[in-house]
Amino acid sequence: MIAFPQIPAQARPGLLRRVNRERVVRSLQTRGPLSRSDVAKHTGLGYATAVKICDSLEASSFAESCSGQQQNGAGRPGNFLRMSADKAQVIALALGPIEVRAGSIALNGAVTGQMEKSATPQNYASLLEQIIKLVKKLDQNTTANTLGLGVCVPGLIDSRSGEVKITPNIPSIDGHDLLADLEKLTGLKTKLTGVMESQFLVEQIRGQANGLENFALINYLGGLGAAACSDGHRITGARGMAGEIGHIVINPDGELCGCGNHGCLETQATDLALLKQVTKKLDREVSIAEMLEIQKNNPQLIATEVSRFLDHLAIAIALTLQAYNPSTVFLLGRFLENDAHCFDQLIERLPRFCLSPLLENCQVKLTRADPLNGAGLAIIEQLIAQLPTKS
Ligand SMILES: [Zn+2]
Repeated sequence: MIAFPQIPAQARPGLLRRVNRERVVRSLQTRGPLSRSDVAKHTGLGYATAVKICDSLEASSFAESCSGQQQNGAGRPGNFLRMSADKAQVIALALGPIEVRAGSIALNGAVTGQMEKSATPQNYASLLEQIIKLVKKLDQNTTANTLGLGVCVPGLIDSRSGEVKITPNIPSIDGHDLLADLEKLTGLKTKLTGVMESQFLVEQIRGQANGLENFALINYLGGLGAAACSDGHRITGARGMAGEIGHIVINPDGELCGCGNHGCLETQATDLALLKQVTKKLDREVSIAEMLEIQKNNPQLIATEVSRFLDHLAIAIALTLQAYNPSTVFLLGRFLENDAHCFDQLIERLPRFCLSPLLENCQVKLTRADPLNGAGLAIIEQLIAQLPTKS
């Protein structure tokens, strides 16, 4: 069950209506299609209020009618409601240093139709051109009305201004107002989100964290970041930049990090950091796929490097556990997916780095959350928040 904020009795009716609408949208996104009485049941709202919100979501094309069966299987198939897939969609993009991925997203966050991929252009003008091309293609491929554009950017984004602060992996964006340029060129309302925020939304709405009130997500793929949820709400900080655990300096004399400092945790605890160590050990170029293959067939060859990586990933987990006290920590990366034995070794290490009361009753699980869906969910959230609240 998702936790919703308590609204004080004197709160403005507009705010209350917005929170109630958010409850209905989340219910439809996570459990839909639902009958209007199921919406009332799952949100705890009165039937009349639930019906009113459902009707207004349908009238504004954010939700659509469909046939369905009551969740307990009772009754005849009837008029159900789901977040729109046929009437409306958003387009989402995930920008990466190597490729740009794009897809049409139904308003429950699911990718519909074919995903598009292209190489990431090296200069800003070509990047914009590429994005516009992908957006146009996805818009033309469907009869659904495109309501907005969500873009996941691997960097720090100021949640208040929408400004991209740092994008070390796509430096061509630095110094440009990507948000304003995309809104101007596509004519679509646009939302930029960081990778962690995007993955957090997917995990919370569409993933294993659905229904959890206290959890944390750690991405150890390329950069190292964390996102935490406390009592149903993501801990964002003043400007939405909380969770940059990868740039905590653990060795001031250590390796140079992409952020410019030395010895950040990120330089030791990611798939890419391990790959760098393995490349050094073998004294030749190694791909991630080859590294995973070596780990499978000849693990002794890179045992020292893997052991050091697991120690540092355990520190990252301990840090997250001790800072946020989650009930579940989800890990997102490739190395552990490849080797169940290493996952067990990681778990065995945790007591060395973490206070036992925090470790008790906390589960560590592997997950896959695609930031592309998250970028879509972020713009959907923004568009719904901007709908008028007058009844
Ligand atoms: Zn750093």
